[in-house]
Amino acid sequence: MAKYGKKSPRGRFIGKNEVAKVIVNLSLDKRFDYLIPSALARDIRPGAQVRVPFGHSERTGYVLSVGDYSNYARNELKSILGLRNNAPKVNESLLKLADWMASYYCCSKEQAVRTLLPGAVRSGKQKKKKVASFYLGKEADEAQKFIFDNERRSPAKCALLKTLLNQHGLSKSHLLKLAGVGDGPLSGLVKAGLVERQYIEVDRDPFSSSELLRTTAIEPTPEQREALRTLSAMLSGKTECHTMLLHGVTGSGKTEVYLQAIAETLKSGKEAIVLVPEISLTPQTTERFRARFGEMVSVLHSRLSDGERYDEWMKIHEERVHIVVGARSALFAPFRKLGLIVVDEEHENTYKQEEAPRYNARDVAVVRGTIEKAVVVLGTATPSLESYHNAATGKYILAELTKRVDDYLMPEMRVVDMRDEAIETGGPSIYSRELIDAVHNRLRKGEQTIIFLNKRGFASQMMCRQCGFVATCSECSISYTYHKKRECLTCHLCGAIVRAPGKCPDCDSAEIRYSGLGTEKVETIAAKLFPSANIARMDSDTMTKKDSYEKTLGAFRSGKIDILIGTQMIAKGLHFPNVTLVGVIYADLSLRIPDFRSQERTFQLLTQVAGRAGRGEVEGLVVIQTHAPFNPAIQYAVANDYKGFYDEEMELRETLAYPPACHMIAVKIK
Ligand code: ADP
Ligand code: ZN
Ligand code: ZN
Repeated sequence: MAKYGKKSPRGRFIGKNEVAKVIVNLSLDKRFDYLIPSALARDIRPGAQVRVPFGHSERTGYVLSVGDYSNYARNELKSILGLRNNAPKVNESLLKLADWMASYYCCSKEQAVRTLLPGAVRSGKQKKKKVASFYLGKEADEAQKFIFDNERRSPAKCALLKTLLNQHGLSKSHLLKLAGVGDGPLSGLVKAGLVERQYIEVDRDPFSSSELLRTTAIEPTPEQREALRTLSAMLSGKTECHTMLLHGVTGSGKTEVYLQAIAETLKSGKEAIVLVPEISLTPQTTERFRARFGEMVSVLHSRLSDGERYDEWMKIHEERVHIVVGARSALFAPFRKLGLIVVDEEHENTYKQEEAPRYNARDVAVVRGTIEKAVVVLGTATPSLESYHNAATGKYILAELTKRVDDYLMPEMRVVDMRDEAIETGGPSIYSRELIDAVHNRLRKGEQTIIFLNKRGFASQMMCRQCGFVATCSECSISYTYHKKRECLTCHLCGAIVRAPGKCPDCDSAEIRYSGLGTEKVETIAAKLFPSANIARMDSDTMTKKDSYEKTLGAFRSGKIDILIGTQMIAKGLHFPNVTLVGVIYADLSLRIPDFRSQERTFQLLTQVAGRAGRGEVEGLVVIQTHAPFNPAIQYAVANDYKGFYDEEMELRETLAYPPACHMIAVKIK
């Protein structure tokens, strides 16, 4: 073992392809040189997992590269001991990606490389699932003879043999069921050698094995056709640029564009990855891909067991599937002929991993696309400023879908000024009169309502319930964080600390000490206001069981629930044709998160929420309750004007030097 020094770029010549640079599974962020024994010369390639001597023990590691030189003499170098059992090799292009991640996101190489493989694969401990399968143990004649001799004496055994004469390779339960007998006679036959048991490897099946109705490509709309034409040119390498931003309003048929682009990718013998945010990785989403491409699709999500994850990964590794649909980590699917990466809802902040390596899957997707010459499509109704900026400056190709496929109207959006409401009704309230009336109206007509509480940031800020005042740092234009214990306000950007006011500086109200509001409270009040309605709540408190999410949504879909109350969880990608009203409580709350992206988040959230209303024949209504009715994020969302919002927000980012006008690094010291 020897350290990889920097003294000379090449070092001394050791021998042709005899030196492997290895990272060891310890977060040392160093590469070490090892000799490659000639017996292993063929197997030691970049990406191979190896066992090496390290100090006084043995460690596992990854081979990063193979070369001829070292900074150490041959006799100073130790030899690789062998390959790690069962552990698959990492693709070379993915190693390059990990290299980029390590340098861009400032993490160790080990951390970056580890991200490439799911734990279940990395450990090398997972095995294929094996099931027993039953065959005739001897020639058919012998079985016939046994049946002839024993028909009376042991009818059960004869039934088993008859079944196996008809059909072999049956699982135990299947065989016993077909023969209509119990366990005992079967073991007897196995002992006598007349029946043989073999173990065969099978895939664990993460899908509910329900049959899916297959779909075929839909005739594209003119806008979809245009986007597909551009994608086609990109896929055949006719364009300089390999990334497309697909900006399409909700219901404009983005998914159909993905599906047809994937079909074209497969036709040219290449593979595709589709990333969706974890929260929208519902059976409905994945079924749209499986309905089009069937067995060719693998699905990776966080609810898979280790065994299932291992099997799915192996299917990709062994090229038995050509499409992967999954959350963030599916980006590292070990395809070798990658042609297309789709990042749906590219603006979603769940693409950002909050632990090392702190990568954003959308950005890494673009880099993987560059490394492997694959086309990347970033799709969304509300592009992140970064992506739209990249499109505006020509780094990405922009394609737009401005119309909804079904010609349904965009819902009507009404803003209720909660400051006026408080004055007119004699105090702050949670439900405005307009929203209460609208809900009653829906209940009468048998239509459904979604009440959305914009809860982000609640606990941490100081807000006046009467007038909506929020204490904000004058230097950084972001809101202060309220520390209740110390009775002070701090700015998380510049570090300023000020005393928390006892009264609202704007309206003198003592209601400023407002600590927050939960969905539970919103639900309790709803129950009082609408006693005849069936109300359900959906947030991280009520959605604790594995299937509670699906259950509640199922009940809502079937009309058993009149009013669904929830947080961010219900804002995304759900389609309910009978929902004609969406109420937003405290729409301006997310404007106050101490983050320069709070305006952008609010615009996205309101646009997404509005997309939940009126997806059926009836036009929808969205009631937005706010203390800041003239805020640009709210105004542009109401006007459904992304471009207007982008222009105004971009100007602000440039003035204050926030991304994408510049780069920003968060340094956390613990
Ligand atoms: P988005 O992903 O932009 O929200 P979807 O792809 O979900 O939109 O499309 C909305 C609906 O319109 C889906 O039911 C889809 O099957 C349908 N659809 C998409 N493209 C077409 C088309 N060209 N003609 C008819 N229906 C379409
Ligand atoms: Zn006030
Ligand atoms: Zn500040």
